[in-house]
Amino acid sequence: MIRRCVTVLGSTGSVGCSTLDLMDQAQAAGTGHFEVEALTGGANIARLAEQARRWRPRVAVTADPARLDELRQALAGTGVEAAAGEAAIVEAATRPADWVMAAIVGAAGLKSAWAAARTGATLALANKESLVCCGPALIERVRRGGGQLIPVDSEHSAIFQVFPAEAPERVSRLVLTASGGPFRQTPLEQLRGVTPERAVAHPNWSMGAKISVDSATMANKGLETIEAAYLFDMPAHRIDVVVHPESIIHSLVEYIDGSTLAQMGPPDMKTPIACALAWPDRLAWPAPRLDLAALGQLTFEAPDMERFPALRLAREALIAGGAAPAVFNAANEVAALAFLDRRLPFLNIAAVIADTLDGATASGTACDIGDACDAALAVDAQARRIAQGVVERFARAA
Ligand code: NAD
Ligand code: MG
Repeated sequence: MIRRCVTVLGSTGSVGCSTLDLMDQAQAAGTGHFEVEALTGGANIARLAEQARRWRPRVAVTADPARLDELRQALAGTGVEAAAGEAAIVEAATRPADWVMAAIVGAAGLKSAWAAARTGATLALANKESLVCCGPALIERVRRGGGQLIPVDSEHSAIFQVFPAEAPERVSRLVLTASGGPFRQTPLEQLRGVTPERAVAHPNWSMGAKISVDSATMANKGLETIEAAYLFDMPAHRIDVVVHPESIIHSLVEYIDGSTLAQMGPPDMKTPIACALAWPDRLAWPAPRLDLAALGQLTFEAPDMERFPALRLAREALIAGGAAPAVFNAANEVAALAFLDRRLPFLNIAAVIADTLDGATASGTACDIGDACDAALAVDAQARRIAQGVVERFARAA
């Protein structure tokens, strides 16, 4: 029986909902027992209130202060405290819990992940952007706080499960698998006019809008390359990406003797979430099972760097070091949101990232960020301003 007191930051999103669903399923199966300290969400008050009614956390927080009254009304009679705003989310993140799921999307998740890192709780990290913005400092903060950071991103969960943490020198290479997203085979000239609806229709995974766009540009695999470099202390030249459209092998670790270990499973985020929830134990839940005979074959190909320039740019940002990964992340967020708002054509997303990285280098933004969350947030804010300017320039030119 797995027993945990948990907090879920970003509970109303794709990963947040999967986390609570998984807890429900394990509880129904009699294999888990969970108490909830805090839930936090954004504008979807109805969903947050429904989750709070089900789990009775001590506090439910919306990011939007203008919706506090709405949340209070929705929670009337439940005894669940309602709160709102960024400071309240950070406060929720530091409340006593065994396990904190960081599943807010984007750099907006950094402050609360940073706050949770110090508490000694297990930090289940889905919010890859916070690692990209200030990974080494965040990892060190968890270590000093006496907690453990467990990656939830499926590729990093895979590596985490087969990586010899006690003897990292035995590893020669990490191989991240990538589905290739919805446009792996779309003729290049058709990519010009693709709509947000097509970009977020991922072939294998059901995810939030921003990460779905990242998957279509492969900026996601770029962010994940940086995430892997920090989590497993691996230089860029020892991290490879292979396209594997079936998303069954979630990533691989190659050892110095030529042996390669992979972790496999159906593409369902509940499996890496279950791993993080129970680690080092395992949670029994009605998981979808792998049927290799039914699958018949697994296929692989090298990523097409011409089609997916964001992947190359992320790798360059990782090699440049300092604040370059945080600049990459900010530019990608601004560009992905502009694309979702129909203000930027799909093919210009990578161009915005490239021009923002150049602009940040020229203006000295991409300097060393030291080891503080505040410094990373300052870089993030500055890079966003540069990226907004680039988006507007593209809009005027269109
Ligand atoms: P989502 O958009 O579905 O959910 C995001 C959550 O964050 C929601 O609860 C939303 O209310 C909250 N949120 C958004 N903006 C906020 C803000 N400014 N302040 C506070 N809360 C805010 O996203 P998702 O797909 O669940 O992804 C969450 C994170 O997990 C991302 O970092 C993503 O890269 C990562 N991730 C997701 C998946 C997946 O399958 N969805 C897989 C791997 C990693
Ligand atoms: Mg992933």
